[in-house]
Amino acid sequence: MQKSNSTPFVMLLLISILFSSTLFAYEASPTQINKVLKEAYNKYKGDVGGKNADYIKALAIVDPNIFGITLVDKNGKIYEIGNTKKEVSIQSISKVFTASLVMQDHGDKFVQSKIGVNATGAAFNSIIAIELHKGSASNPFVNAGAIQSTSWVSAKNSKIRWNRIKHNMDNFAARKLKLNEDVYTSEVNDNKRNQAISKILDAYGRMGSDPLEATTVYTKQCSINVSSHDLAIMASTLANHGINPISKKKVIESTYTPKIMAIMATAGLYDNAGDWLYDTGAPAKSGVGGGIIAVIPGEFGIGVVSPPLDTYGNSVRAQLAIKYIIKKLNLNPLAQ
Ligand code: GLU
Repeated sequence: MQKSNSTPFVMLLLISILFSSTLFAYEASPTQINKVLKEAYNKYKGDVGGKNADYIKALAIVDPNIFGITLVDKNGKIYEIGNTKKEVSIQSISKVFTASLVMQDHGDKFVQSKIGVNATGAAFNSIIAIELHKGSASNPFVNAGAIQSTSWVSAKNSKIRWNRIKHNMDNFAARKLKLNEDVYTSEVNDNKRNQAISKILDAYGRMGSDPLEATTVYTKQCSINVSSHDLAIMASTLANHGINPISKKKVIESTYTPKIMAIMATAGLYDNAGDWLYDTGAPAKSGVGGGIIAVIPGEFGIGVVSPPLDTYGNSVRAQLAIKYIIKKLNLNPLAQ
């Protein structure tokens, strides 16, 4: 039989198919993941960009050097480096979980019509954005929509509302989280702007409970303490179709996780959400305490904590670290 001279070509083709599939699939080994996390940590731990939020006085005095990076896969395997057990207040990231609860209580259509799922193009605490949109908060991740969400958590009274919100966050984190009393006291005595926002929404008939009561509960939910370890577990529950990969508990219906992630993609990083999605393709949410969560749907939850923020209110080091990890491990969901 005559030997075909096309063999080397076929071999090359097979190798290139194999190579290209490894380029685009989520196939990183534990060793690679640990290596990339370590690189991200070492590369950015000395970055001195940004500054702690100071409009809430207790946030200004948090150690700016805290830097923790955690990644949790869909099976509950945890990868982490740095100050991954150091806690900061969850702030705006709590909005994701309260919106999830409202979706569980009233359905996704309710969230879309009553609160909204569009970007405001304005700052997270904008009042003019409400007026421009005829009383609509636009989405549950700006303060207006978040206070509104809190008001729509089904509850007979404020205590039950708080307990349900707290219990839901505990379920996402697979442990009992603690309230940061200093942050709560600092913010609850200085939240006139959020009170004003709640009153405007009430005037438009958008609130589900007394506006000032909802604002107080909202302020409390923002004051829950979390570490990067907690945040990554919370994010991994969204990545894992609503089942917490650590506790194995179902925390949110799988029909709702894509809806929550869609809002994260639209409005997760304040008015810089478009740039973030363009760079990473990953739904994410930040908080002024310095945390960011990012979700790689079906695969990973990422949580990073580092208090100094950029001008949009997003943690500088957390953004850099997550962008690096997504790039190096080829995790951009839009490139799969
Ligand atoms: N509790 C903060 C506020 O209402 C949350 C802001 C944030 O993290 O974006 O101002």
